[in-house]
Amino acid sequence: MLLAKPAPRSDECLVSYLIRVSEQNGFKHIGHLLHYAGLNWKNNRAPIHQLLSGECDAAPLLSTLGLSEYQSKITPVYRSFQRVIDTPYILVKSPRVCPECLEELGYCKYQWALLPVVACSRHKSILVDQNPATGKNLGWYRQYLNRFDGGDCPIKTAGAHAPSSSIQQCLHIEALLAGKQPGCSSPVVLMGLEFREVLSLIHFIAHYQARLLAGSFNPVALQSYELAHVYENVWQTLQAWPDSFYSLLSQYVDRPMSSKGQAGLNKHFRDLYERLHRQQENRGIARIKAEFDRYIEEYWPGVLEPERITRIQLASTARNIISKKEAARILGSRLERIDKLVQQGRITPIVFKGKAHYQRDQVEALANEISSNWTMAEACEALEVTRYQLKQLLDAGAIRAIQKPDSLNRDWVVDKLGCLDLISVLRSNARKSEPPSGALSMAGVQRQGYSIVQLVMAMQSGELQYSVAADVDSTASLSQFFGFKINNMA
Ligand SMILES: [Zn+2]
Repeated sequence: MLLAKPAPRSDECLVSYLIRVSEQNGFKHIGHLLHYAGLNWKNNRAPIHQLLSGECDAAPLLSTLGLSEYQSKITPVYRSFQRVIDTPYILVKSPRVCPECLEELGYCKYQWALLPVVACSRHKSILVDQNPATGKNLGWYRQYLNRFDGGDCPIKTAGAHAPSSSIQQCLHIEALLAGKQPGCSSPVVLMGLEFREVLSLIHFIAHYQARLLAGSFNPVALQSYELAHVYENVWQTLQAWPDSFYSLLSQYVDRPMSSKGQAGLNKHFRDLYERLHRQQENRGIARIKAEFDRYIEEYWPGVLEPERITRIQLASTARNIISKKEAARILGSRLERIDKLVQQGRITPIVFKGKAHYQRDQVEALANEISSNWTMAEACEALEVTRYQLKQLLDAGAIRAIQKPDSLNRDWVVDKLGCLDLISVLRSNARKSEPPSGALSMAGVQRQGYSIVQLVMAMQSGELQYSVAADVDSTASLSQFFGFKINNMA
């Protein structure tokens, strides 16, 4: 049993509470406390992120420890975020604190675990997440709530004042979390949006601002002062909305996504468009999309081909740029086949982020060409010839091959329409009257020395006269012809 059972505070972070309990009961860190509570994790570690988000329920552990009920404020916030349409970045990777608040309150606020809260709005300072003496991050497994690991005095405020935009952003987020109306100094574009929508919008802009400088936006990897700097730029953009966004878009014109100039530029806009489309159910993203559409209409009509836009609008599964795996699936082939089709110039890969992608319409057209023609087996069955005979007809050019097996192709593709045309010509060449006596069957005429190729040629040239059966099972079959007679033209 625990010696000390402090009660959780209403706006306290779960980990802060656990650290307090652990500290007051003489545990080395919360891993040991949770191990004692029956959490069976290796090396006394714990699923911190899942505990914060609520994906891992802390209630049974707390109850085992005989602790009073803890109501997480983070869990409902975390659960309100929806996959795909909202930003996936919500919680910090390592903890951060306002040392002054911590000293006054004796616990850590849950808000500090949310990425956009980078500063303390009360003390106007950036939250501390790194030990300036060692360069090490503050840890979840620290022994004392108000000290760095190995530190012997309380964490100090870094000193520097937080930029006013960071403070405004924190005030805005805190108001939303408290269910209040944000102040009138907040950007108009954020008005009426929920927390998840605001954060998605901020991260969307941050992503495309970072990309402009050929970087990427990975907020969980950033120190709080770095993240504050990123958010500061975003906040300024939001305050000058929508002109600032137009200016961001126009900067892409000078920095195409690849050395391909216009093509690289188109890629930028398509990429933006696709993300805007995918996340459009988020009202924050929808506001960006509205301005994006206005900008394109005004300055770049034609940058997005209308056909392509309709395609994107179908669903994200109908995107035109597809992976190799998807291309192979459409063609019903193995992955290696795709490389060979590229070698043959039958499909063109698009290199994007260093990886080859393919165009759905091109792959589908090829798949359609293959499926609307015949394989060897299908042709044999339809024409009612043996594989050997079919091969002879193909070799002689009496029937056209769309694809021949070689080092790049494994299978034959037989021209179906060409075959049907040939049969139709042979039918129209057939005699209209009754067959004369002594006429031969097809097998009979072949016994006279006509190979299948010679037979077809002779039927076309009129050297052979023949009849066609009135009733046939398969209109493409050669077996519908009978009553052969050699036409002695001499
Ligand atoms: Zn503070």
